[in-house]
Amino acid sequence: MTAEVTHSLDKEFNPWLAAEARFHTAADTLGLDDGLRKVLRSPAREITVNIPVGMDDGRLEVFTGYRVQHSIARGPAKGGIRYAPDVTLDEVRALASWMTWKCAVVNIPFGGGKGGVICNPVYLSQGELERITRRYTAEIIEFIGPEVDVPAPDMNTNEQTMAWIMDTYSMHKRQTVTAVVTGKPVNLGGSRGRTEATGRGCLLVAQEALKLFGMKPAEARVVIQGFGNVGGMAARLMARTGFKIVSIIEYDGAVYNPAGLDIEALLLHRKATGSILDFAGGENIDREEAMFLECDILLPAAKENVLHSGNAHRVRAKILCEGANGPTTAQADEILAARNVFVIPDILANAGGVTVSYFEWVQDRQGFFWNEDLVNTRLEEIMVNSFQDVTGLAGRHKVHNRTAAYMLALDRVAFAIKLRGIYA
Ligand code: GLU
Repeated sequence: MTAEVTHSLDKEFNPWLAAEARFHTAADTLGLDDGLRKVLRSPAREITVNIPVGMDDGRLEVFTGYRVQHSIARGPAKGGIRYAPDVTLDEVRALASWMTWKCAVVNIPFGGGKGGVICNPVYLSQGELERITRRYTAEIIEFIGPEVDVPAPDMNTNEQTMAWIMDTYSMHKRQTVTAVVTGKPVNLGGSRGRTEATGRGCLLVAQEALKLFGMKPAEARVVIQGFGNVGGMAARLMARTGFKIVSIIEYDGAVYNPAGLDIEALLLHRKATGSILDFAGGENIDREEAMFLECDILLPAAKENVLHSGNAHRVRAKILCEGANGPTTAQADEILAARNVFVIPDILANAGGVTVSYFEWVQDRQGFFWNEDLVNTRLEEIMVNSFQDVTGLAGRHKVHNRTAAYMLALDRVAFAIKLRGIYA
């Protein structure tokens, strides 16, 4: 590869530049003035912390962590914290801005934030993870809180991580403050239905999209990339609803069954063997081959930049339902549009998680907890309405769904900023 090509790929794969490209397309269509554009695209606050941690072997190690609060115009910053070796400030910045737009698309009263710690959880013990989490929390403690910024799980963090953050924050405040984070265990102030929420949201919008194609779930062949919290849960819920999950793709390979995989059996197989491969109810196939199978719904639910200018022309799905944040690069958008792929953009498709996070925050603050049916009914109402808002706007303005989702979000955030005015 020449240096020039590498450089342009670097640019294409930089999530912050991707977020900017989508932002400007929507801002142009809305005719947003320059001043507001500057305010909306600049993250309000970016915190970098270096976290000293005593390791199990007695060594002292320092990890770098970030928390970016992109906007608090519509309410407290809201968004997950991820642990990964390749976390960068640009990535966290992009993810924080996507949270602002995501919360605005589903119209919940939050701004957007995101956090990340550069570390590789594969090589860390529970004790080391706990110490990293507690010290990271202590370093950003003045900047989080139920009314300020409310973290949640993201890649490689889970309800245990949230319980540690909640405990550390509460110890400093000398009182138990459950609403400081969401995605907690149900018996510690968590919400019923939160673990399933992102996957359930994907199911709900996929169902709505199918209706536009005049198709029933039983006729829909689905390929899912990722079998974790988002992909695994979406697979499970979609299979229960009658969708035919023909392939699941993981980091070590893919499994395929044209008649539909038995998802519950596949989950058990992975639990027993540690991998989805060599499953009796399907055949192993190449990951690339699986990604570009002819299907009705392709659901990337793993990481960023999986569809890009080098492979988007190979997509053979009618509907792309973005379970992950940023799975498609800005350059791939046009290629998918030219292929008439119906895109349900990430800031809509995966908003089920933060929506139930909102429900969790509401329940914590009221000290009154809902049953799962109520959570799911309210989630469905929000996801279906938001899908209709986005596709309705796309139809009226003759723009792609992604641009429409950004337009809806930008307009709502800009409205809040205009009404509040600029404090000087
Ligand atoms: N990390 C999830 C997301 O990207 C959930 C965020 C939240 O619940 O605050 O949407």
